[in-house]
Amino acid sequence: MIDPERQEKCMKRHKRKKVKYMMAGCVAVLLLSFVAVFAYMLLMYQDNKSAQAGPASGISQTSEDKAAYTDHGWNLILVNDTHYIPKDYSVDLIELSNGEKVDSRIYPKLQEMFDAARADGLSLFVAAGYRTRERQQELMDEKIREYLDQGYSQEEAQRLAGEWVATPGTSEHELGIAVDINADTSTTSSDELYQWLADNAWRYGFIKRYSEEKSDITGVINEPWHYRYVGEDAAREITSRGLCLEEYIETL
Ligand SMILES: [Zn+2]
Repeated sequence: MIDPERQEKCMKRHKRKKVKYMMAGCVAVLLLSFVAVFAYMLLMYQDNKSAQAGPASGISQTSEDKAAYTDHGWNLILVNDTHYIPKDYSVDLIELSNGEKVDSRIYPKLQEMFDAARADGLSLFVAAGYRTRERQQELMDEKIREYLDQGYSQEEAQRLAGEWVATPGTSEHELGIAVDINADTSTTSSDELYQWLADNAWRYGFIKRYSEEKSDITGVINEPWHYRYVGEDAAREITSRGLCLEEYIETL
């Protein structure tokens, strides 16, 4: 026969066991939630940290530095010492016959300009097109090293190198829409080529980006070989009015 007292005890034990299992389940769910929330916060923190990181260069941005102006389209992006190229800027490149690369969107006009120059009897080539930020950093490091070897202090070497090489993140070559054009000096003089470019590049949407007269605004010395694509309308306006890109963008 079943002892009713024992039966009651037995049922109580069963109940206690059930409660224990339920509590254990709750604790497990809670623990799992904590782990999930913690992992999520860690991920967010790391994302934030990488978004806040400055340019990949050894030279850090100051609080005054701004992002490049992209408001007026890819052809009018402004890049200079205070306007850095966005980290996510992507370029669709096309390779020229000598291995240099340019943004595929400027290629047809660049080709047209070269055809016209050649038809006028000039020998020319793209000495530098697209450059990665890493390559720009290498150029900067090489220049700094040159000055250090000459006995300059680190600070002086950096300042002097900055006069020749654009700070990584501020070179138009990293956009792929600027080219350094050189003469094949066995048949064409540099002066002859630079004059032709100054007179004609606007017809193909290119401007001489750094002129002597505007170096106080652009922060770059005269570079008669450096041509930058802006599109035909802007190039006509900039060239005919004798503006630099910084000034032109102010008028928009
Ligand atoms: Zn250049």
